Amino acid sequence: MTSILRALSCADDDPNSLPVARAREIIAGLVSPVVETEVVPIRQALGRVLAADVISPVNVPGHNNSAMDGYAVRFADLATDKDTPLKLAGTAFAGRGFEGGVNAGQCIRIMTGAVMPQGADTIVIQEVVQVADDIISIPTQQKQGQNVRYAGEDLRVGSPALRAGRLVRSSDLGLVASLGIAEVTVKRRLRVAFFSTGDELCSIGTDLKEGEVYDSNRYTLYGMLTRLGCEIIDLGVVRDQPAAIEAAFRTAAKQADVILTSGGVSVGEADFIRELMSQLGEVAFWKIAMRPGRPMAFGKIESEGNTAWLFGLPGNPVAVMVTFYQFVRETLLTMMGVTPIEALPQFQVPCITPLKKRPGRTEFQRAVLFLANNEWKVRLTGSQGAGVLSSMSEANCFIVLEHERGNIEVGETVLVQPFEGLI
Ligand code: AMP
Ligand code: MG
Repeated sequence: MTSILRALSCADDDPNSLPVARAREIIAGLVSPVVETEVVPIRQALGRVLAADVISPVNVPGHNNSAMDGYAVRFADLATDKDTPLKLAGTAFAGRGFEGGVNAGQCIRIMTGAVMPQGADTIVIQEVVQVADDIISIPTQQKQGQNVRYAGEDLRVGSPALRAGRLVRSSDLGLVASLGIAEVTVKRRLRVAFFSTGDELCSIGTDLKEGEVYDSNRYTLYGMLTRLGCEIIDLGVVRDQPAAIEAAFRTAAKQADVILTSGGVSVGEADFIRELMSQLGEVAFWKIAMRPGRPMAFGKIESEGNTAWLFGLPGNPVAVMVTFYQFVRETLLTMMGVTPIEALPQFQVPCITPLKKRPGRTEFQRAVLFLANNEWKVRLTGSQGAGVLSSMSEANCFIVLEHERGNIEVGETVLVQPFEGLI
C-alpha cells in the first residue's frame, strides 16, 4: 500500500480497532462524485441525482388566486360594526379568464383557484355570507387579504426550485412538472460490481451438498443497491482460489465505479481476498471497533485505466447488511453526487429488553421499534448472531450502542436508527 490510503488510514489510527466514525470519515475524504451527466424525461429522474439546479421559469402560482370558494371583495368596502351588503357583479371560475373587475360596493362569486378579479383583495368564504337575490351580505370580522394565494408564493421566477445534488423524490417530480419542465439533467448512474467468495457457497437452484450454504449476500446486496438506484454488475460466486478471485477483481475493476465483495477478509486459511486486494491495488484493512462487521477492507483497484473503489465486506450475512448500511450507503450516495448527505435519523427510546454490551466497540443490534400506550419503545429481535439473517428481516431498526456503553438494563433509553427504504 502506498500514498493516500496509508497516510489517511494509518497515521494516528489503530487499524486493529478503528472507531466507526473515523472509518466513515476516512472514506468520505477519499471518494468524489461521478462527473458524467445525462438528460432524462422527468419520470425517469425518480431516484436519480440532479446534476444542475432546476430554475423556475415562471411564478408558481402564476396569478393571485382564490384559496376558497366564496366571494371576492374590496376590503375597504366592508363596515367594521355591521354586515355589509354588496352587489353581485359576476362569477370567476378556475381556469377561465375573468374580464370584469370589482367596483366599489360590488363583489364577485369566485371558485377555488380562479384568478383574483381586478380591484378585489380579499376572499370571504361562501359559508358565512347571506344571499338575497344579487345582494350578498358580508359579516364583520373579515381580514384583509384572507384566503388569497399570491403569485410566486410557492416558487418565484428565476429562483432555484431544486438544487443540484438532490436525490429526486416523488414530490420533486410534481414540483418540476408544475414549472412546465419536461426534462432534467442528472448524474449518470453509479456502476457497482459485486461478488461473493467462499468454497461453501451454493447458488440457488442447485441442491445443497454436505457443508454448503446458499449464497444469500448477493441477494441482499442486489436489493440494497437497486434501492439506491445503482447500475448492478453481478459477478456471481467466486471460489476461494487466488486465480479466480484475481480474475473477478480485474473484470470488476474494468467496468465498475465501486466493487463490493463479501467473505474472505478475516484471517482464515482460505481468506485470500486481503492478500489479493493489496497485490492489485491500494487497500487498508481495518478491524473496525464494531459488532457485527469487525473485519472490513477499503481501498481501490485499477484495471485497464479504470479505477474502482473497493469494499471487502465480511462474509456473515448480517455483517454484510450492517457494514453496507453504516459505510457503503453513504459512500455510494457521495459518489452518486448527493449533497448534502443528511445523517440518518436516530433518537432515544426506552428499551424493554436487557442488552449485553462490552465497552470499546459500537454495536448495531437488530430491534423492533413499536408503539405501546402512545409511547415509542424498542425490543430486541431474536438471536443476534452475525449469521442470523432472520433477525434483520424481523427488525425495523438498529439499536446503536455507543462505543463506551456497557450492559443495558430493562427500561434504559437507547439510541435507535430506524431502517430507511434500503433494508
Ligand atoms: P468468511 O468471512 O468468508 O469467513 O465467512 C463468514 C461466514 O459467513 C461463514 O459462515 C460463511 O459461510 C458465511 N458466508 C460467507 N459468504 C456468504 C454468502 N455469500 N452467503 C451466505 N453466507 C455467507
Ligand atoms: Mg469465506
